Amino acid sequence: MKNSRTIKNIIEPQMVIEGAGVLLRRSIAPQASNFHDPFLLFDHFAFNNPAEGPISGFPMHPHRGIETVTYMLEGSVNHRDSLSNSGLIGPGDVQWMTAGGGIMHEELPRRGPSGNIYGFQLWVNLPSSRKWSRPRYQEIRAADIPVLKQDGATVRVVAGEINGMRGPVTEIAAEPIYLDLRLAPDSRFAYPIPSGHTLIAYVFEGNGLLGADETPVHATSMVFFDDGEGFQAKTIDSPLRLMLIAGAPFKEPIAPYGPFVMNTGEEIQEALNDLRTGKFVWNEKDPRFKE
Ligand code: MN
Repeated sequence: MKNSRTIKNIIEPQMVIEGAGVLLRRSIAPQASNFHDPFLLFDHFAFNNPAEGPISGFPMHPHRGIETVTYMLEGSVNHRDSLSNSGLIGPGDVQWMTAGGGIMHEELPRRGPSGNIYGFQLWVNLPSSRKWSRPRYQEIRAADIPVLKQDGATVRVVAGEINGMRGPVTEIAAEPIYLDLRLAPDSRFAYPIPSGHTLIAYVFEGNGLLGADETPVHATSMVFFDDGEGFQAKTIDSPLRLMLIAGAPFKEPIAPYGPFVMNTGEEIQEALNDLRTGKFVWNEKDPRFKE
């Protein structure tokens, strides 16, 4: 592919503990430097060792100013929120939640039949114009995610478009591309990415050669790319599986604090104050909030 992107950096995720004691592999954390704009966080959760004891989760907690995207591979997450939405996200399902001006929710993981829980959570920023918007959910069942099979590649299209197949997640300010890509051994895959958009790839099974200079990458790694016009991957004797994630940067200053990502420190203080005074959750009667 002409002007295919080269790799800028490859990192191994760090183990962190979040929520009520959940062990995660984290490869991006919210930082004021906003280096991966519009992406703020990427967590890989896998509770697959019974010695870790009973499964804890994320009891009721707030979010403001971001979108959280949960993609399950095995097991499930039961969720419930301040707008009285609730449901179960199972294997292959996606929940794209726009927290907007404020939501409280809980996320409780459960093991699947094999005893495993395995999935990802991505946080996508919102532009300042949408940080006070009405919260919104896009819950997509596995059966509604289109799958492209071509030349050794199997691609689940969550967001974005490939060969006329459109992912079901729409109307997201970051114009995201979110693909679950499997490559069989001895295969190639190329995909156009708009120039100027941020591109990252999370390799979680097997190994392959990524980018224009065919850099070897193995699971489990987060790969950051230079600017350019496309992504390419190639396998030799091993299969490869990765999440391909791209989006338009907002180029705004950000102030991250725990589950909030706003534009200024004053807005973080306001969020903390709203939590103390019971004004946190989006409410059409409060003129600070927008549709
Ligand atoms: Mn949450």
